[in-house]
Amino acid sequence: MKKVIIRKTEEIENWRRNINSEINFIPTMGNLHNGHIKLISTAKNDNSNVNLVSIFINPLQFDNKLDLENYPQTIDNDIKLSFSNGADAIFIPSNEDIYPQNNKNIKFLKAPIKLSSALCGLNRIGHFDGVCTVVYRLLNLIKPKNLYLGEKDWQQLLILKNLVLRKKLNVAIKSIPTQRDFDGIPLSSRNLHLSKNERKLISFFSNELLEAKKNFQQEKKINLNEIIKKLSAKKITIEYLEHLHPHTLQKARFEDNISLLAGAIKCGETRLIDHVFLMKRRPIIAIDGPAGSGKSTVTKLIAKKLKLLYLDTGAMYRALSWLMIKESIDYKKEKKLHNILKDISIVFKSNTNSHQDVYVNNYCVTEEIRSQKISSIVSKISSIKEVRKFLVEEQRKIGESGGLVAEGRDIGTTVFPHAELKIFLTASIDERAKRRKSDKNSKDSQEIDLHTLKELIKKRDFEDSNREISPLIKANDAIEIITDGYSINEVVDKIIDLYNDKIPKEIEIK
Ligand code: C5P
Repeated sequence: MKKVIIRKTEEIENWRRNINSEINFIPTMGNLHNGHIKLISTAKNDNSNVNLVSIFINPLQFDNKLDLENYPQTIDNDIKLSFSNGADAIFIPSNEDIYPQNNKNIKFLKAPIKLSSALCGLNRIGHFDGVCTVVYRLLNLIKPKNLYLGEKDWQQLLILKNLVLRKKLNVAIKSIPTQRDFDGIPLSSRNLHLSKNERKLISFFSNELLEAKKNFQQEKKINLNEIIKKLSAKKITIEYLEHLHPHTLQKARFEDNISLLAGAIKCGETRLIDHVFLMKRRPIIAIDGPAGSGKSTVTKLIAKKLKLLYLDTGAMYRALSWLMIKESIDYKKEKKLHNILKDISIVFKSNTNSHQDVYVNNYCVTEEIRSQKISSIVSKISSIKEVRKFLVEEQRKIGESGGLVAEGRDIGTTVFPHAELKIFLTASIDERAKRRKSDKNSKDSQEIDLHTLKELIKKRDFEDSNREISPLIKANDAIEIITDGYSINEVVDKIIDLYNDKIPKEIEIK
């Protein structure tokens, strides 16, 4: 494809008509550095869409005239860097193109107060309104499928995600982690203005944040005053240093597993922002839903794609049921059940096909626990208080340091009530019975006629949803996905998008 530079808004329309492809859009203010390049190359590697980089210094988002006048401009180099790193087109409009006078179609937007009044919004009056206005204008002109933004400006990212939702824009936001320089400072076009000494001070600030992040992993707490003292001792002017919820930007609460430590400092005339995410454990995804809703298939694929541990809690209830049948134990006899729970070991091990095998007391039961005999008794056994207490504890031990996706009936309500993402996966009973019938892992189901299978699933749904302890219900904060008519990949992609929306990319960085 011929690489093009577009300068006029009218040309955008023509260009879009000719490319015959979806667009990845990477908005910039120029003076490109490795952070921008990472955005362009991520877009290039993500899909086969056409990549458009815009270079426009938006006057509306500068609250300081001098800052605007001094903003570094390196257009020839920017063009070279964009094209050599994957841009197919570069849009370089003028002020008049973006904000033509007397044009009633230009909407001057306000950023939402809740998000824009915190952190940088405190001192940079109108800044986020300007950001919303220009991005909305550019999105309307370009109509991209994907918008690529850096997590370095986390508050801006939240405000733009909110804009997309508020204006019901059909664009997906993809973010990349903050890119740092050799001395720990986040890459920024404004770094160009720093003197040697200023750079040293900023590096001290960034490294304090990085250190706090490291300490938090061990101590699970943060002492803001201590950091402020250290910064003050270096005569660093702190504009703010806050520990917040990463999405609402309200004060962080004790139960927040991931929180945001964000700061802004001033060195000479230059103001710099930086942040880190503090994390008590790695993220957890909880996937609950009735039998045959596609939980296992979807959960396994998500685990693989996001490199998370896969925890099939149903297999644990099935494994216990298997042992009770094998030992001819009447589950109503408390003492016998107690003895079994005392000695049982249920372990998952990866096999040579990189699937998981389930072992009960060192005996592999992967296939046997999928029989109809087990399916017909497991709901009864899983409704016993002692059984639930035991297995929930085991499951919590497995998820102690997070980094897993767990499927079951009570994951979001009971096992991991603080999971970062909760999904309630379901489908019509007809669809679920059809899926079970064609499930190669469930041999018995293949031998039962569809009608009987439907009745058996209904019975199990009823038992699971009406038991006294931890019944199958959708957690208040779970997102329901009805999978009728959707392919497995569509469901997986939807859940991964939801995960990416909640979990900053930065936390994956060790
Ligand atoms: O998901 P699967 O069909 O393998 O689950 C088998 C049974 O185990 C369910 O029908 C339910 O009775 C029980 N179960 C549960 N809580 C979970 C997972 C499964 O009660 N978290």
